[in-house]
Amino acid sequence: MIERRLIAVEGLVQGVGFRPYVHRLAAANQLRGFVRNDAAGVLIDVEGREAHVDAFCDALAQSPPPLAAIARMRVERASPRSYDAFHIAPSGSPSGAPLASLVPPDVATCDACLAELGDPANRRHGHPFISCTDCGPRYTIVLATPYDRVRTTMKDFPMCAECRREYADPTDRRFHAETIACWGCGPTLRATTAAADASGPCGAGALSAAVAALRDGRIVALKALGGYHLACDATNAAAVARLRSRKRREAKPLAVLVRDLARAERLCRVSAAEAALLRSAARPIVLLERRDARSLADAVAPGQSLLGIMLPSTPVHHLLVVALDRPLVMTSGNLSEEPVAIDEPSAFRALAGIAELFLVHDRPIATRCDDSVVRVVAGDVRPVRRARGYASQAIAMPRSICEPVLAVGAHLKSTACLAFGDHAMVSPHVGDLGSPDARAAMRDAISSLLKGRRARPTAIAHDLHPDYGSTRLAHELCAELGVGRRVPVQHHHAHVASCAAEHGIAEPVIGVAFDGAGLGADGAIWGGEFLLVDGAGYRRCGHLGYVPLPGGDAAARRPWRSAAAHLAAAGVGRARPADVPGHEWDVVAQLLDRPDSSPRTSSTGRLFDAVASLLDICHVSRFEGEAAMRLERVAHVGHARAYDAPIVDGDPWTVDVGALVRAIANDRARRPVADVAGAFHLALADIVVRGCERVRDESGVAVVALTGGAFANALLLEFARRALGSRGFCVLMHREVPSNDGGLSLGQAWVAACALEGDR
Ligand code: ZN
Ligand code: ZN
Ligand code: FE
Repeated sequence: MIERRLIAVEGLVQGVGFRPYVHRLAAANQLRGFVRNDAAGVLIDVEGREAHVDAFCDALAQSPPPLAAIARMRVERASPRSYDAFHIAPSGSPSGAPLASLVPPDVATCDACLAELGDPANRRHGHPFISCTDCGPRYTIVLATPYDRVRTTMKDFPMCAECRREYADPTDRRFHAETIACWGCGPTLRATTAAADASGPCGAGALSAAVAALRDGRIVALKALGGYHLACDATNAAAVARLRSRKRREAKPLAVLVRDLARAERLCRVSAAEAALLRSAARPIVLLERRDARSLADAVAPGQSLLGIMLPSTPVHHLLVVALDRPLVMTSGNLSEEPVAIDEPSAFRALAGIAELFLVHDRPIATRCDDSVVRVVAGDVRPVRRARGYASQAIAMPRSICEPVLAVGAHLKSTACLAFGDHAMVSPHVGDLGSPDARAAMRDAISSLLKGRRARPTAIAHDLHPDYGSTRLAHELCAELGVGRRVPVQHHHAHVASCAAEHGIAEPVIGVAFDGAGLGADGAIWGGEFLLVDGAGYRRCGHLGYVPLPGGDAAARRPWRSAAAHLAAAGVGRARPADVPGHEWDVVAQLLDRPDSSPRTSSTGRLFDAVASLLDICHVSRFEGEAAMRLERVAHVGHARAYDAPIVDGDPWTVDVGALVRAIANDRARRPVADVAGAFHLALADIVVRGCERVRDESGVAVVALTGGAFANALLLEFARRALGSRGFCVLMHREVPSNDGGLSLGQAWVAACALEGDR
């Protein structure tokens, strides 16, 4: 009996070697028919003996190719057509892709390609654009779906005869590899300078020029997958110092590229989980505990116990780091906080004053995508910045969303999110929306989310803050796209919703949102919040007690101001620290005499700042979160006992942080700083537990989401998780999106989706 079936597969099924896999599977089962990409995913039409067709369907569902993720598979019977062979058919219509169609993330060069790259006998020996069905660029080169070479930025590189033969050969590992390329037909590397009339060596010569420049201590801008990198020799102190001053990046740690895992282990302690992340197809920057500080220039990560390490993700990075055999600083090709450059004109413009050599090539970058940063805390991966290797991977939502929602994030570390159907897609990290260039980059990220899709968003969600660049963008986009509904979402409500949504939880949760700043419903700056969140609604059960914040946002870079505010509120005097200018000190003192003149805040970030300054660890932060990071680094919890901070009744109730600050001010001269810092971390974890118990007593809810930028602090996250766990709470921590504002758009989208549902 001949049986014919039509199989429609949706999910992450394009650009992951799906069609070649289906081809092999069909051949193994003696089936005839075809497979093709279409707007929604992959369509398979097979016929053969019934037992064979069954075996084919089972294998497809149970063991799809490793990079694929099948979201849905529909199988229909049809009358046999007497096909005579099995083939890969041209793709279906490229227009009107449903929201469900997915583009895979970029995949780091695989071991098979690496072997060829290093093999002098192979025709792709040393080829900077080697790739195959299992690896290579995807997300950053795709112009539209279905995923085919003609709809990627490889379209301008027609295959040579040899590549075409491999592409058409079902037994070749590059059978239908859309990124296939070689010395004869692929993109070309070029070494150049920013000068208008510059010319330089191409191909292998370009690479040698870059290697020589790096060896000489020069700074090289290189075109990577999702944007430009700035590179220099990480062991050369003068080179790193020059890169820092030119990039205007004073102290924020720089990431380091090393050749392989063994070399990463020489610099840092690497656990099994961290090793797996370093070697994963996503190849993120992994934050690791430093082991040997001496082999790198101090300026790479001054005063830090953590080092951001990555392994090569592209053939070019491999070739560079192998030729040099030394660690390279690898940082985003931008001025501090600006979006990363993705094309030659903007790279030359932005980086001319920084890089002495440019290693460019002629394959355009379709979508900007910075490097991802992750850390392993409390036994699992915690994203710090979600971008290359992760962006475009769908996040499953708690339940199906009927009307598409777009969310635009907040102001710092911004991302956008499109949620529809069973999942959400979060754009790569865009960054701080302070500049017009950054807002333009945000628009690019949004159009890339919406690119080629049939549905338009029904609503646009944004932060409550009226002056954020993202809020203005939401207004503009509503007008431009004809979207009738805007949904403002309170910042910490969105943080909690983001954590719940990524865990697939639609039920009420207790949210502990500890971060730097977000506008509250009462006009104050919130940031130490206990919320009971139920989809579109939330109740503020309690919060850290308010203090007036002299100068508002300006205080974030000056921890001594937060210390002055907390000490004044706690009724403790203090002498001016030596590195605080006298006139500024006087201005703040005057502001604090009139508490009503300053905005009030419950910010956890500012409390960390206050304690860091009070302990003389950090009076001025050179980058966001520096004071808190340094406080975490010195903290020792061996003998520490938590300081007490009583809860004061009220609706909402408040945590008396004044008691905590007085105890620390008392102890600072009597106990080692490490113990005081340790006791402070324990005190915060204790506050989390007592707050959650209070909310559980009132509501019966026992699921807690720990979210907000302050939970980037590994000690706090670990202590809070353990203490909550021992008291019977179910604890949710971020593992898909960052706990910082980079994860906010996902929460905004989920809140807006719940709000739309409630309206119907
Ligand atoms: Zn490969
Ligand atoms: Zn070729
Ligand atoms: Fe936040």
